[in-house]
Amino acid sequence: MISENIKKLQNEIPSHVDLVAVSKTKPVADIMEAYKAGHRIFGENKVKEMESKWEETPDDIQWHMIGHVQRNKVKYMAPFVSLIHAVDSPRLLKEINKQAKKNDRVISCLLQIKIAEEESKYGMSEADAETLLASETTANFQHIRIQGLMGMATFTEDSKQLTEEFQKLKKCYDRLKETYGFTTLSMGMSGDYKIAIDNGSTMIRVGSAIFGERNY
Ligand SMILES: *Cc1c(COP(=O)(O)O)cnc(C)c1O
Repeated sequence: MISENIKKLQNEIPSHVDLVAVSKTKPVADIMEAYKAGHRIFGENKVKEMESKWEETPDDIQWHMIGHVQRNKVKYMAPFVSLIHAVDSPRLLKEINKQAKKNDRVISCLLQIKIAEEESKYGMSEADAETLLASETTANFQHIRIQGLMGMATFTEDSKQLTEEFQKLKKCYDRLKETYGFTTLSMGMSGDYKIAIDNGSTMIRVGSAIFGERNY
């Protein structure tokens, strides 16, 4: 039961941690079940899928883009997206600023840092993220707010490795937090959110533990 899963999670996680219900591949009916249980923050990893779900659901839902974003898709979500988790290049940031400006909005973003050992995971190095944050170009973007960092750990059950990867991201977050006014550290999914929270996460992205397994 989706509503029971949501309530159980809400009771389990500390109040300073936000829960993003990851509804990718799932129908609007599932989203509405979570909505009726009081949940308002949903995450999707494809822009077009998020756009069509946004059109079909109530206005007070906050839509988070948690997946890799192609620059030519930013325009479709710029009118409504509430947080973009996986910004991983200066060019993407520039496009988000441009589209946010067109919509007379300020769009909140997180920089995705690569913490997993797998080659396939997207994300910037810590050094590249620091360079981007410190650049004058970034400082001059009036229509974006970089409010923290996001990371995806390696797909493993080795809790020692997960702990090390989350700790690495937390350290980076703490180092930059004061200077850039960070408020959000997005890390942790269905399989590893407990370890992520123990290591400083302020936002977890949970899909299958709420909506069940996905059939791609
Ligand atoms: C799919 C996805 C999640 C949720 O994964 P679950 O294991 O189903 O909880 C979290 N973050 C990102 C970036 C995802 O793509």
